[in-house]
Amino acid sequence: MTDILSSYVAGAWHTPAASDIAEAAAPARPVRDAGTGELLHEVSSSGVDFAAVADHAKTTGVTELQKLTFHQRGVILKKLGGYLMERTKGYHEISFTTGTTKRDAFVDIEGGIGTLFTYSGVARRQMPNSTVHLDGGVERLSKNGTFVGRHILTSRQGLAIQINAFNFPVWGMLEKFAPMFVAGVPVVVKPATDTAHLTRAVVADMVESGLLPDGAIQLISGDVTPLFDHLAEQDAIAFTGSAATARRLSGLDCVTERGTRFFAEADSLNFSLLGPDAGPGSQEFDLFVDGVVAEMTVKAGQKCTAIRRTIVPQAHAEAVGEAIIAKLTAQGVGDPREKSTRLGPVVSDKQRSDVLDAIDEILAGGAHLLAGGREESDRLAAEHGGAYVAATVLQADDAWVDAVHDIEAFGPVTSIITYTDTEEAVRLAARGRGSLVGSVVTHDSEFATEFVRKIAPWHGRILVLDRDDAEESTGHGSPLPNLIHGGPGRAGGGEEMGGLRGVEHFMQRTAIQASPDMLTAIGGEWVNGSERHLGDHPFTKSLSDLRVGDALESDWREVTLDDIEHFANFTGDTFYAHMNEEAAAANPFFPGRVAHGYLIVSFAAGLFVQPDPGPVLANYGLEGLTFITPVSPGDSLKVTLTAKRITPRETDEYGEVRWDAQVVNQRHEPVAKYDVLTLVAKS
Ligand code: NAP
Repeated sequence: MTDILSSYVAGAWHTPAASDIAEAAAPARPVRDAGTGELLHEVSSSGVDFAAVADHAKTTGVTELQKLTFHQRGVILKKLGGYLMERTKGYHEISFTTGTTKRDAFVDIEGGIGTLFTYSGVARRQMPNSTVHLDGGVERLSKNGTFVGRHILTSRQGLAIQINAFNFPVWGMLEKFAPMFVAGVPVVVKPATDTAHLTRAVVADMVESGLLPDGAIQLISGDVTPLFDHLAEQDAIAFTGSAATARRLSGLDCVTERGTRFFAEADSLNFSLLGPDAGPGSQEFDLFVDGVVAEMTVKAGQKCTAIRRTIVPQAHAEAVGEAIIAKLTAQGVGDPREKSTRLGPVVSDKQRSDVLDAIDEILAGGAHLLAGGREESDRLAAEHGGAYVAATVLQADDAWVDAVHDIEAFGPVTSIITYTDTEEAVRLAARGRGSLVGSVVTHDSEFATEFVRKIAPWHGRILVLDRDDAEESTGHGSPLPNLIHGGPGRAGGGEEMGGLRGVEHFMQRTAIQASPDMLTAIGGEWVNGSERHLGDHPFTKSLSDLRVGDALESDWREVTLDDIEHFANFTGDTFYAHMNEEAAAANPFFPGRVAHGYLIVSFAAGLFVQPDPGPVLANYGLEGLTFITPVSPGDSLKVTLTAKRITPRETDEYGEVRWDAQVVNQRHEPVAKYDVLTLVAKS
């Protein structure tokens, strides 16, 4: 009997028994090597207890994962990244069977693992070492300040199922897993059948690593439909795939009736546009051609971000077509295991047949063939014996024929479309009805500014490429973990990654209205107006003793004219507001000569500092510094310093303490406000 790919459910591996498969509603699906056609295994989820999958995630998974702080989750992601990075050789071997060359697999495998490292950093640098994340500042809701509001983000009490497309079996899984894990939400992975074996290999190592809490990850190889019956308000579906499947899933009962969150990353007819300034012979012309060819050949064009529409000035259409074809001709086609291969097969015979049908449909809809197409693809398939599609360049007979803007041929295919002026370029770019990415290759900043501002509402990401950023640019097709991936309209309307933004999708934002003391307790960050604890100097306390709200109220210090002049001459800051009474008085903001803002901050440090060696290790910055009331010679200053947020680091013997600093004058008017950032020893 052919091997059946296993699933990882409720903490154990499940391989369907022959009796399960015989009784299953859907037959097991065979998966073949894309290059050789050899049968690899079959995929079926028969016999999986989907109620147990949901229960395991929502009880064990939620409990174990949400015991950890954001920082602890971040540390696990970093270790997990290191663990997987040591095992990439095996993933690359499997990846060849999906038709992917070594160069292309690098984006999927090492690129996917890279997102774990990025999200480890997001969790540890942009989030507190806590289970509650604060979103924005405090809103004053009442006259006397006893009633305030603030948004907090907490982990949702459900699971997130990720349903992935076949083309990025590793990256697609990990770029979703990382933000879900940081958010504290257990994950069920449903890979696309054709490449599920590669996802399975990585998930198996994730489990084997022993780094993940129980219930944090499960894997369903095969049909996942029965799980939808167990999803409700706190759960999420994160889908990547075709627009048709996205539409179907968005109508599921759990989404429409029970409020399951649904995110879609669907297909899109991305464009790259050659600027009017970038004629043949210019650096930008060559960059443009290189970009189009790379996007056609990498992963055999099976990328959601690939350039389907190559939009060029009418005058350069012929030159662009010739240059693209010349470059394509130089790309080695064949076995993905061969180092010289630049264009491997597509993932399966079914995919090949879908791509060739889509090419024929575009041709019938109003385009002509410049290179590639069905005949050439048949010749390649006969020569190499796998699911090969020839790199195919089409040209639209008319820029506005629907076919080139509507039909996605998910393979090494692009259509050249011409424009006459900026207005038409904008309308053609937007004709994709919403895309993941668009790129414009131009060195004309005036054109780029007008064009980008007009097309931005239709795109999730825009690359502006020219001679200045080309060398370091990551190219048209690469989504980056710190920037959002997703797009409006046809692209599905979802957003993924984008640093912290990606984590927030799996958390609940709640507006808390309460007294300042309550808000300090709930949010874990001291809020203005809540109680301060005066006592021992807080700089004498290590992290283990220091508490949010521990505070110091300084003595008074007078600011004299001598101080101001001394500071001015010492620093060289002799700005007239400090040195020239008449000019200062003429300024609408000052009553006459005033103290430097930096003098105030310096005096404040002198007032609050505790000079002896102690647990405070360094002052690494100030944030949100605002000067409010000008300080005239003869005024006195006092500072109140309050421990606002305490963030012990998981992997160091110290942590960050953020202090609220408020400076007032002798009339108790606010003079300056800011946060002082320090590093403090744990003990
Ligand atoms: P697909 O046919 O829509 O399948 C995507 C995923 O959905 C697969 O895991 C598939 O599982 C699953 N699926 C299909 N029908 C389902 C159903 N009724 N219930 C639950 N799951 C279902 O897309 P694909 O062929 O794998 O991928 C190619 C498409 O994805 C292209 O159109 C491409 O543009 C798009 N894509 C978009 C992005 C993006 O980020 N926006 C990224 C990559 C790809 P099975 O494989 O088991 O059928």
